[in-house]
Amino acid sequence: MKLSLVVPCYNEEDNVELFYEEVRKCFQGKIDEYELIFVNDGSKDNTRKKLKQIYLNSGKQHVKVIGFSRNFGKEAAIYAGLQQAEGEYTTVIDADLQQRPEVVLQMVQVLDENEDYDCVAAFQEKRSEGRLLTFFKNVFYKIINKVADTEFISGASDFRTFRANMRSAILSMSEYHRFSKGIFSWVGFETKFIPYVAEKRNAGTTKWSFKKLFKYGMDGIISFSVAPLKLATWAGTICAELALLYMVIIFLQKIFFGIDVPGHATVVTLILFIGGVQLFFLGILGEYISKMYIQEKKRPIYITRETFGIEKPREESENQ
Ligand code: UDP
Ligand code: MG
Repeated sequence: MKLSLVVPCYNEEDNVELFYEEVRKCFQGKIDEYELIFVNDGSKDNTRKKLKQIYLNSGKQHVKVIGFSRNFGKEAAIYAGLQQAEGEYTTVIDADLQQRPEVVLQMVQVLDENEDYDCVAAFQEKRSEGRLLTFFKNVFYKIINKVADTEFISGASDFRTFRANMRSAILSMSEYHRFSKGIFSWVGFETKFIPYVAEKRNAGTTKWSFKKLFKYGMDGIISFSVAPLKLATWAGTICAELALLYMVIIFLQKIFFGIDVPGHATVVTLILFIGGVQLFFLGILGEYISKMYIQEKKRPIYITRETFGIEKPREESENQ
């Protein structure tokens, strides 16, 4: 098997058929041996029916379908798809045709011609989102690259093609809170970045609200950096130093100028300020502890409800 396409799908009823057709047309005569692994991430529309139909129409040849018991998120869907991939190369691609199969051919060609690369990742030279979102995304990349040891490339998506060695490496990271952008970069391997233009979504709407993106970004920082924990040490030190300085000032004022300690407003303000700072850092601690707590429960990353075209379903959290 030359190539496995891993396609996470959540409420993509109007896209999956067209996606399948486009891939078939595009690969015809260029890549003979390939498989499509659709992961139905608990869709609430007719995606399940459509995928089953695609599987049956394909002559059960090169289509595999995994259906989750509920929505587990794109990251879990990618993980499940990778577990089933058998190709020499594996591509992660969205179902909404924003990422064109023609680009996959380009990626395959790079890997074919270049033994030095293990991965080809597409990145958007120009973002298609609004200005505000682009601004926040740029700020996010600035922050995460400052605080994390792993490098995060702005504009790089999880649209990429990699060799089997990298696929095993990714699967060996069986953490519950998955942040693909970080995982791809953390495992290493030589990656070539090629620019691509993200098309308009074929049908349906994006599943990312600003709130979801913000949470995802925070999860990314917490998964790949412990810098927020160290912030508390710095803030604590600065507050203590300021307090000492203020103490000296009050003392001198009293001795030399006879000025009394200013009224209770200062005290109340300071108590509130310090209380706020302490609670803020307790919150950060809580973020890490809650992630440890969930991870420690060793819950599976996803639960399978049904599969088509898969003989041996893998354990949901099975390590490679
Ligand atoms: N997706 C998924 N589970 C989710 C959310 C999204 O499998 O909980 C899939 C979705 O069906 C699509 C891909 O992930 O194939 C990218 O999602 P979307 O197009 O909403 O993201 P965007 O392209 O806007 O970043
Ligand atoms: Mg999309």
